[in-house]
Amino acid sequence: MGLMKANHVFFLLYLLHILLLDVAAWLTLLVFGTSFMPFLLCAVLLSAVQAQAGWLQHDFGHLSVFSTSTWNHLLHHFVIGHLKGAPASWWNHMHFQHHAKPNCFRKDPDINMHPFFFALGKILSVELGKQKKKYMPYNHQHKYFFLSECPHPTQGDSLERGC
Ligand SMILES: [Zn+2]
Repeated sequence: MGLMKANHVFFLLYLLHILLLDVAAWLTLLVFGTSFMPFLLCAVLLSAVQAQAGWLQHDFGHLSVFSTSTWNHLLHHFVIGHLKGAPASWWNHMHFQHHAKPNCFRKDPDINMHPFFFALGKILSVELGKQKKKYMPYNHQHKYFFLSECPHPTQGDSLERGC
């Protein structure tokens, strides 16, 4: 069905709209100065740039846009390195761990940044797995994720034990 074939025009336009928003933010300050309203508009534009660049670098980082990894790596370095100011190697190191153990404390670095902010739901699936309550296989969790309901663990109790 061609679902895994990336549309290069889409990604080109995606990158161009990010660059246009970046230029618009810079021009806002250049033309209107640095008073409060231009500053606020610039902040909104740059926030949109950072959010959009975050998703775009994710696709390049997963090597899912071009058929060769070289072009994916080049664009990944440009988007995360030049537009977001972070090293691609750092993102790869963190993101491989995230996809190996998604939402797993002490294994997923995205959750370690702030477990209560990034974790969805009342309790993480790994906590249920350790307690052997409501056990369901991980390889089918995309079919039953909405069923998971149980009491929230207390701070310093089960959350501190890790996976
Ligand atoms: Zn990913």
